Amino acid sequence: MSKPRTRRRRKPLLRCAIKGCLNLNDEVKFVGPLCTPCYWFLTTERVNRSQASRNFREWAIKYALAELQRQMFVTLVRKMR
Ligand SMILES: [Zn+2]
Repeated sequence: MSKPRTRRRRKPLLRCAIKGCLNLNDEVKFVGPLCTPCYWFLTTERVNRSQASRNFREWAIKYALAELQRQMFVTLVRKMR
């Protein structure tokens, strides 16, 4: 008889919406389409205030917003069917 193993319920794998971020939702928690590190990075003021991080932050916010809008649009289209 084999030992009973803990059943693993597989969530659909989601990759963080930030381009270049490789976090998956089975490794870290997610807030919508973003992993929590990216989410915190985008939403807290307690980040490195260097110009590079500002540039990245600005770009990432634009990217995340575009991604959110795209996902909202896809959801809307699905609902309309
Ligand atoms: Zn991320």
